[in-house]
Amino acid sequence: MFKKQKPHLVIIGNGVAGVTTARRVRERSDMAITIISAESRYHFSRTALMYIYMGHMRFEDTKPFPDWYWEQNRINLVHGFVTEIDTGNKRVRLQDGREITYDKLVIATGSQPNKFGWPGQDLPGVQGLYSLQDLQRLEENTPRIRHAVIVGGGLIGIELAEMLMSRNIPVTFLVRERYFYDIILPQEEAKLISRHILEHGVDLRLSTELKEILPGPDGHVRAVVTSRGEEIACQFVGLTVGVHPNIDVVKTRPSKPTAACW
Ligand SMILES: Cc1cc2nc3c(=O)[nH]c(=O)nc-3n(C[C@H](O)[C@H](O)[C@H](O)COP(=O)(O)OP(=O)(O)OC[C@H]3O[C@@H](n4cnc5c(N)ncnc54)[C@H](O)[C@@H]3O)c2cc1C
Repeated sequence: MFKKQKPHLVIIGNGVAGVTTARRVRERSDMAITIISAESRYHFSRTALMYIYMGHMRFEDTKPFPDWYWEQNRINLVHGFVTEIDTGNKRVRLQDGREITYDKLVIATGSQPNKFGWPGQDLPGVQGLYSLQDLQRLEENTPRIRHAVIVGGGLIGIELAEMLMSRNIPVTFLVRERYFYDIILPQEEAKLISRHILEHGVDLRLSTELKEILPGPDGHVRAVVTSRGEEIACQFVGLTVGVHPNIDVVKTRPSKPTAACW
């Protein structure tokens, strides 16, 4: 007798949105669930990235669930990057050629760090802080950093400053606002935090923006130029100027199908 297949929920992205969707659906339904994610095989807490760099946690400690959790809850994990969504045929294609069909698709692909077209923004030694791969790049960049510049006075910027200073790297912090975070905080509190940042030895430059990033003879970043016309020598630039939705995958057009393997 023909056994009807369970409907298949596919979730792209194993961040907190993707895994929470999977867990809540599993509580209420018996449908097949697959989470596809490129960054890491297992869900980890992005908010803990800084503690890995600072030596307070290992990557293993940032995983809120033991590795057996997923199999026990019948949540299938696929480690790979989705390059195409073919809504006509209800399937997604991965970079390695695999294709996975779905009945329901959830796109939980998070966000990407902003870059605003500054000259030099893609030079070696210039990066954002979002993903595990960014953390790895930061580790690779660290040995050559004698002075760092961070651009953007938000929470990731201040985290990055703390991270670098935990390795005794001096930091200049370019903040567009009159006081740190005064777009969110009342002015008195923003002033207090700005004072606190300075007292902790960060070279905080308020009302200052990035104009340009300059390469050295080896092609690596050697300095930034600020909106005040000042050149600041550095071997690292952290771009922490917010994020935008990561929706590249929904913009791609489906190409011809290859052999389905799942
Ligand atoms: C350093 C840092 C510190 C933070 N600290 C805090 C904090 O203290 N408190 C707080 O509330 N928030 C914090 N945030 C923000 C918080 O981490 C995010 O809001 C949250 O992670 C968003 O979850 P998400 O599931 O929407 O997306 P994400 O966590 O971005 O997960 C999306 C996943 O989808 C994957 N993906 C994207 N496209 C594809 C594709 N085509 N194929 C396969 N996989 C794909 C990505 O690689 C990623 O792993 C912090 C963020 C950062 C970067």
